[in-house]
Amino acid sequence: MQFNDLNKQYKSYQPEIDAAIQGVIDSSSFINGQEIQLLEKELAEFAGVKHAVACSSGTDALLLSLMALNIQPGDEIICPAFSFIASASMVSFYKARPVFVDVSPLDFNIDPAKIEAKITTRTKGIIAVSLYGQCADFDTINAIARKYDLWVIEDGAQSFGGIYKGKRSGSLTDLATTSFFPAKPLGCYGDGGAIFTNDEAKAMKLKLLRSHGQEKRYIHKHIGINGRIDTLQAAILRVKLKYFEREIAIRQEAAMHYAQLLEGQVLLPEEAEGRKSVWAQFTVMIENRDQVREKLAEKNIPTAVHYPVILPKQEAFRDDVLTNEKYEVAGLLAETVLSLPIHGFITSEEIECVAQALIEAIKENQ
Ligand SMILES: *Cc1c(COP(=O)(O)O)cnc(C)c1O
Repeated sequence: MQFNDLNKQYKSYQPEIDAAIQGVIDSSSFINGQEIQLLEKELAEFAGVKHAVACSSGTDALLLSLMALNIQPGDEIICPAFSFIASASMVSFYKARPVFVDVSPLDFNIDPAKIEAKITTRTKGIIAVSLYGQCADFDTINAIARKYDLWVIEDGAQSFGGIYKGKRSGSLTDLATTSFFPAKPLGCYGDGGAIFTNDEAKAMKLKLLRSHGQEKRYIHKHIGINGRIDTLQAAILRVKLKYFEREIAIRQEAAMHYAQLLEGQVLLPEEAEGRKSVWAQFTVMIENRDQVREKLAEKNIPTAVHYPVILPKQEAFRDDVLTNEKYEVAGLLAETVLSLPIHGFITSEEIECVAQALIEAIKENQ
């Protein structure tokens, strides 16, 4: 069994993906090929925004967004204490300061009720991650941002395709980012990412920033980076995007099936009212997580821990030394979360097999 069966996905789209790759090779347009513009148009349409800017990774999408927002050393940016490191680390990379906020036990995303206490005169914006595929509570977060004149970025690396009150992830904030890392809900065959916005000036600036701030050949308006996506990845993504809705539906069915089978056995993730997760991960909370995980590994059931250490405690930040803060919910999640296999090609039999093995492993460890 695979945690995320990318080979099965490839096999089912193989003729189209092979043709798309061959097309790029035949054109020799490896950089800035026309597939990129076509992909950007399709991504923007899918997300329901005016502009999508494709780039080299989800991390670079965050970096480019912070560059476009002109953050400065010393600025403070609100970030969730429990997530993948990229959003907070790109803030630190800029010598700005990620100010961590604990997450909510309901959706595992940044807890809006705890944001205002962390806002100071140096605060410039909020990065909210839509963890495991479920959007954060953006109505409340945007209202706080308006009150204090802050910008909001959605880190939608795990939530592309997710829905919040009828709108897609990517369309809810000033800027939003996603990742096309192979294991994300919409993945390419290497690194890739995108930024979404309705702000035309920002979109134009992002396009310059991803290409060394270059306006015309060797004429540079801004300090930028090499943050382009390559044409091969764009061509592959265009094929996968056509079938993405179907894969999302299978992930959603799989999550419902898991929830049915595991009801009463483990603490289950829940979708908040008005939100539809893309289930990038199906992540349960269990005691004795590490022992249960080992038992499952013995039965060849792959699992993952997203994430074992909360961000403020990472050596890279050492924020816990600085602030002495507890982040209780984040800490509990880091000790108990376990992600089960889920992807767009998982079968009912596989789900039943995982659920049964998990229930047995929990019993054996009680
Ligand atoms: C994967 C991920 C990223 C980074 O994406 P890359 O494409 O790997 O750089 C950023 N934020 C979150 C929440 C992620 O899950």
